[in-house]
Amino acid sequence: MEARFYQEEHHIFRKAFRDFISKEVKPHAEKWESENGIPRDIWYKMGEQGYLCPWIDEIYGGYGAGFEYSAVIHEEQCRSECSGIIGTGVHSDIVVPYIHHHGNQKQKEKYLPGCASGEIITCVAMTEPEAGSDLAKIRTKAIKEGNEYVVNGQKVFSTNGINSNLAVVAVKTDTKADPPHKGMSILLIEEGTPGFSKGRSLHKTGAHSQDTGELFFEDCRVPKENLLGEEGKGFQYLMHNLQQERLVVAMDAQATAEYVLEKTIEYCKTRNVFGSPVSSLQHNTFKIVEMATEVEIGRVFLNALIEDFINGIDITLKVSMAKWWITEMVNRIAYHCTQLHGGYGCMAEYYVARSSGDVRSMTSAGGTSEIMKIVIGRMMGL
Ligand SMILES: Cc1cc2nc3c(=O)[nH]c(=O)nc-3n(C[C@H](O)[C@H](O)[C@H](O)COP(=O)(O)OP(=O)(O)OC[C@H]3O[C@@H](n4cnc5c(N)ncnc54)[C@H](O)[C@@H]3O)c2cc1C
Repeated sequence: MEARFYQEEHHIFRKAFRDFISKEVKPHAEKWESENGIPRDIWYKMGEQGYLCPWIDEIYGGYGAGFEYSAVIHEEQCRSECSGIIGTGVHSDIVVPYIHHHGNQKQKEKYLPGCASGEIITCVAMTEPEAGSDLAKIRTKAIKEGNEYVVNGQKVFSTNGINSNLAVVAVKTDTKADPPHKGMSILLIEEGTPGFSKGRSLHKTGAHSQDTGELFFEDCRVPKENLLGEEGKGFQYLMHNLQQERLVVAMDAQATAEYVLEKTIEYCKTRNVFGSPVSSLQHNTFKIVEMATEVEIGRVFLNALIEDFINGIDITLKVSMAKWWITEMVNRIAYHCTQLHGGYGCMAEYYVARSSGDVRSMTSAGGTSEIMKIVIGRMMGL
C-alpha cells in the first residue's frame, strides 16, 4: 500500500538513499556481520549526505526535515542486509530526540551538530541487569555533590553503547522517592568522563554488526549542567520518548518483513523442486499468500499510525498494538521464509537465513510484547 504521506520529494530522497545503501553498505553487509561491527567512517558518510537526524533544526546543523524522511531512511536501511546500520537509525530517531525534546539551548548547541554530522554517536541507557521492563526499579544513582552528580551503577543492552561518544542515561537522583519513578532523572554522560567505562560488546544470537553494550559508572562525576530537563522528570521523559521508539521498532520490523518476503518470493519462483518452482506447490503458495496478507495488514495499520504521528495525534494505544503485533509478525515471516529456502536457509551468506536472528530482539527492545499488552489493557480499562 502506497503511503499517503509520501510526496514526490520523498521518492527522490528514497532513490538517493537507496543508491547510497546499495553502494556503501549492502556489498559489505556479510563481511561486517562477521566482523561484528560497521566501520566508523560510515557514520561520517551518512552525516555528510544528511542521512543522520535529518529532522534536526537547520540552526543546529540539520535540515528541519519531516518524519517522512526518517520513515524512508528506516525502510531503506532494512533492505541493506546489514543489522549494524540499524544502529544509525536508533541514534537518529530514538536517542537524539531526547536532546531535541528536553535539552536546553546550550545542550542543543553543544551536541546536536555533531549528532547530525556523525561526529557524535549516541546511545540511550535505561536497562540494567536487574531492571528492564520495570524501569522504576533502576539502581544507578546520581547523588548531587556541589556542581556535580556522582554516578554509580551499571547499564546493559545499550544499542551503540560501545561506539557511543554520548550516553543518555536514566538515573535515580532521589533514591527515597515515593513512588520510586518520581526519583528518576536523565543525564547526558560523555565518553571520557572519569569513572565512565564500557564493558563487553555483547554477542547476540543475531544482528551481529549491531553494537549492544554494557556501561559502567564508578564515582563518575558529571557536571550538573548535563542534567537533561528537570530533576525528577526522567520517567516522564522516558515514557514520552518511548512512543516514538516503539514506532521506529515497528517501522523496522515491518520493512524487514517486506524485504524478507520479497527475497523469498524471488527465490521460490526460481528454485525448482520435482520439476516445478517451489512457489507453485500448493502448500508453499498458501504459505506465501498467508505471509503476504499479514505483511499487507501490518503495512496498512502502520501507515495509518505514521500518519497520526506526523499529525501530532497521541499514538500510545495504537503504537503499543503495532509494536507487539508487527514485531511478532516479522519473526513468523523470518521463520517461514527460512524454511522455504530449505538448506540454504541455514547458510549465513543468505540474508533470509540471517534475518531470523536479526529480528529476534525486536519483540523485546523498546518494551516487550507483554509490556505492550499491559499498556493496551490498561488503556482499554480492562
Ligand atoms: C538487541 C537489544 C537492544 C536493546 N537496546 C536497548 C537500548 O538501546 N537501551 C536500553 O536501555 N535498553 C535496550 N534494550 C533492553 C530492552 O529494552 C529490554 O531487554 C526489555 O525492556 C526487557 O527487559 P529485560 O530484558 O530486563 O526483561 P525482563 O523485564 O526481565 O522480562 C523478562 C520476561 O518477563 C516478561 N514480563 C516482565 N514484566 C511482566 C509483566 N508485568 N507481566 C507479564 N510479563 C512480564 C517480559 O515480557 C519478558 O518476557 C535492548 C535489548 C535488546 C535485546
